[in-house]
Amino acid sequence: MIRQLHQQLVEGKITAEALALEYLSRIEKNDKEIGAYLTLLEKEGILERARQVDTKIARGEEIDLLEGIPGAIKDNILVEGVRATAGSKILENYTAPHDATVVTRLKEAGAVFLGKTNMDEFAMGSSTENSAYQVTKNPRDITRVPGGSSGGSAAAVASGMAVWSLGSDTGGSIRQPAAFCGIVGLKPTYGRVSRSGLMAMASSLDQIGTFTESVEDAAILLSRIAGEDPMDNTAAPTLTNKSFEDELIGDIKGVRIGIPEEYMSDSIDPSIREALQAAKKNLESLGAVLVPVSLPHTKMALAVYYVLMPAEVSSNIARLDGIRFGVTHTDTDGQKSGDSLLDTYLKNREHGLGKEVKRRVMLGTYALSSGYYDAYYGKADRVRALIRQDFEEVFKTVDVLFTPTTPEVAFPVGEKTTDPLTMYLSDIYTVTANLAGVPALSLPIGDKDGLPIGGQFLSKWFDEEGLLRVAHALEQKQEEIKKAK
Ligand code: GLN
Repeated sequence: MIRQLHQQLVEGKITAEALALEYLSRIEKNDKEIGAYLTLLEKEGILERARQVDTKIARGEEIDLLEGIPGAIKDNILVEGVRATAGSKILENYTAPHDATVVTRLKEAGAVFLGKTNMDEFAMGSSTENSAYQVTKNPRDITRVPGGSSGGSAAAVASGMAVWSLGSDTGGSIRQPAAFCGIVGLKPTYGRVSRSGLMAMASSLDQIGTFTESVEDAAILLSRIAGEDPMDNTAAPTLTNKSFEDELIGDIKGVRIGIPEEYMSDSIDPSIREALQAAKKNLESLGAVLVPVSLPHTKMALAVYYVLMPAEVSSNIARLDGIRFGVTHTDTDGQKSGDSLLDTYLKNREHGLGKEVKRRVMLGTYALSSGYYDAYYGKADRVRALIRQDFEEVFKTVDVLFTPTTPEVAFPVGEKTTDPLTMYLSDIYTVTANLAGVPALSLPIGDKDGLPIGGQFLSKWFDEEGLLRVAHALEQKQEEIKKAK
């Protein structure tokens, strides 16, 4: 998609300005129904950026693949001068004072930003129903959720209201909505992409990634956002000059693909099982070798995630007191502050934060409290090391892993909002990649009565090349089959 649009721009078949206008008009027409965007960038600014690209083309200058291509940014990633709420009421009036590193890099590449997308408050959720502002609908079936927490970013791309978008993935927030909306979602290796300017949820798990229509588009974006950053000590240098999009050679003969038995529980929707079966056959027909493998500590992953993540959340959310950032609660008598500092904190947080955020802060504070720290946080951290070891072991014998992204397809709006535990179960196949830090990608591999099904590939730390190559080969094979029908 990006390459085709780039070609049309270079050949003068379209202009970047017309492209931006087209996407803005789609947003105007469709977003009332879908609810993907929380804030649109100022129209004249968007068109001005696009016109700069047109001027460059007119002068015969070379332009980057991403130059002039319109996309969207999840609302927990900062764009200078633009409101950033992270889906929370407490940041209703917060304007980003600087760009996130990924945004700086995309600006350097010449990308055009359309707006900021809806999300579960501070990225906590699996359905985008925890946003303080609106519920985003799944473009494939508006009675269903788009997944979460990056539901707005997923819905924007899936409904043609953005060519690409950025999201964040702490426990599946890119891959699960990508699966639910029928697009490609990439969570890079922990440390591949700088987190500077991403509002922290659980710092040892958070990673910025992409939503796109194709694997090649994901590669194009990743090449432009990856790499070291003095603002984030965990961001690693990219050691090759090659672009990820140049690695998509289509040949996966002899590639060893592990199929972990633990990801095939009886509770999986039979349609997902069937789609996976078909995908495995396609991978084999491409010359890949399927190998049954085991990651024995997988069964503990969700429990480990739901101890470690809230612990980190409780420390990260502590900065949101309604004084340094965001909204200070106003009493009915118009009084801005409480009777004491503590009272002010309590009021600001009571009114500014939603139920799910409060639940996690309480769980996390409990897990970290004196006398319980070792029994909960310490133990979970030790099991996390075992989960990581499972991956180290399995990657001695296989190159990538292939699993379902989710145990079920997109569920109806409202179905799980009263039962947090069943909501948490949505993340069962995605949290392991964050706990281990490995890269993972969700690719559409079929559907159940029109509702998309995602297949998940995982690869070794910093082997996004291998990950993208296998996903791309399967995607091309599926396209071929579709065309032949
Ligand atoms: N759904 C998961 C959660 O609620 C994942 C969130 C995320 O990746 N940001 O924690």
